[in-house]
Amino acid sequence: MRILLIEDEVDLLTSLARALREEGYAVDAAADGEEGLYKSTEVAYDAIVLDVMLPLLDGWKVLERLRESRRTPVLMLTARDAAQDRVRGLDAGADDYLVKPFDLEELFARLRAIIRRAAGQTVNVIEVGGVAIDTAARRVKLDGHSVELTAREYCLLEFLAMHRGETVTRTALYEHLFDEDEDSLSNLLDVHVSNLRKKLGHGLIETRRGHGYCIG
Ligand code: CA
Repeated sequence: MRILLIEDEVDLLTSLARALREEGYAVDAAADGEEGLYKSTEVAYDAIVLDVMLPLLDGWKVLERLRESRRTPVLMLTARDAAQDRVRGLDAGADDYLVKPFDLEELFARLRAIIRRAAGQTVNVIEVGGVAIDTAARRVKLDGHSVELTAREYCLLEFLAMHRGETVTRTALYEHLFDEDEDSLSNLLDVHVSNLRKKLGHGLIETRRGHGYCIG
């Protein structure tokens, strides 16, 4: 899953990006509204974290213009717990909001929830054959037994499972799993697929030659 953070407070931006990467997300950053709007319309992000108070273009304008072309889930960060801000955000097409200062675990939980909703996933656990993927706890079981995955392997599996039955192209996987700054060594998609097959069985992920991969 690839997230765009639009936030002008450098310390917050840096710490949020680091924390999300530790969870296995690919993270791009924008430090003002114009850069944020540009990136958010160029790339198919899985979710956007959008601060309200931003230089050049505020969060409301970014959201309004983004909604002209994309339905990307948006979590807004508001500085005040003002009722009109919440109503305005939700009216403007935000999927959820958080009031600063917020708890990191709560941000993670809300992001997972808006990503699940956007994928039309109404339950936390996705089951494919003997594999159960708990998208709230981010844990995976094979025939009832826990399987240890790296954060990146988990994200790849979750992305394919949220699109199960569809062939997901390599281009889409690269776009959703790796961020703008990653070098090619960390992008070894085939290695991650091969590791998942070793851990979860070779029948789980099908290769659609020339097209991409498919689960279920
Ligand atoms: Ca700000």
